Amino acid sequence: MRVLITGGAGFLGSHLSDRFLAEGHTVIAMDNLITGNADNIAHLFGHERFRFMKHDVTDYIYVDGPLDAVLHFASPASPVDYLELPIQTLKVGALGTHKALGLAKEKNARFLLASTSEVYGDPQIHPQSEGYYGHVNPIGPRGVYDEAKRFAEAMTMAYHRSHGVETRIVRIFNTYGPRMRLRDGRVVPNFIQQALRGEPLTVYGDGSQTRSFQYVDDLVEGVYRLLLSDHVEPVNIGNPQERTILQFAEVINELTGNMAGIVRRDMRTQDDPQVRQPDITRARSVLGWAPRIDVYEGLNRTIPWFRQELQKRGELA
Ligand code: UDP
Repeated sequence: MRVLITGGAGFLGSHLSDRFLAEGHTVIAMDNLITGNADNIAHLFGHERFRFMKHDVTDYIYVDGPLDAVLHFASPASPVDYLELPIQTLKVGALGTHKALGLAKEKNARFLLASTSEVYGDPQIHPQSEGYYGHVNPIGPRGVYDEAKRFAEAMTMAYHRSHGVETRIVRIFNTYGPRMRLRDGRVVPNFIQQALRGEPLTVYGDGSQTRSFQYVDDLVEGVYRLLLSDHVEPVNIGNPQERTILQFAEVINELTGNMAGIVRRDMRTQDDPQVRQPDITRARSVLGWAPRIDVYEGLNRTIPWFRQELQKRGELA
């Protein structure tokens, strides 16, 4: 396959690029580098089946030659980023999805949308299955991301129904691993860096809110299987192992040997979901997929990467 990945220099896009190249495909990674980072794909420059295009996906996209698949992964994805880049976040979810779908239609390519558990908002059912319509505040600060992704799903289904484009929608739950941005403000990079520096971990609110974290390799496997499947309806991909943020902080302190404990901060964003856990019944049945890497193993693969990055920057001895 010849595959275009928008957001190809981002955390997920770069891991997907690695996977598609390893499977023998050709990859065009597109990114405007506002939150993506060329360092994530530096090891791929010079690879004969890899090409990078610096381009904003909200502008008209021209790609030479045939394409078999378009994976739309471009978007600011951390609450800190989309609070800082609200209009770009709305644009890439809305205009960017439209452009990427138009390209898929033109090339007769399969289209896969990176959607999110945020379409469920601050959920009132637990765990969240794909049949749940969500509980999203459109005008709150997180609305720019949530609604952009909800619009993107609607647009994807419209292209499928009206134009017959082969589409796939993955709803991604909290994912972590190497190549997350050090300063993206999410809980995993924050906690790991604080722990490595021997500082207390900043738990927002009382820490009773829950998340379910999946390691990036599990997500990549799920996306790969979904693309090759014939399933048009959205599919949750996430690890159902759920923890409170307080418990998660304890795991990180334990794995890093950090003795500084935690510190509570009154910094939860408005509409920060109180609970989140994927129901993965559908992924199990239609993709034969389930996560394989538990949080201890995943963190043991992630923490050394952060240590190395901080050492490179001279921020850690
Ligand atoms: N959080 C925290 N400390 C931090 C960063 C985040 O306690 O340093 C909390 C945040 O309030 C939220 C959860 O961790 O309840 C997950 O936040 P994140 O920004 O990683 O992503 P989200 O799942 O909210 O999109």
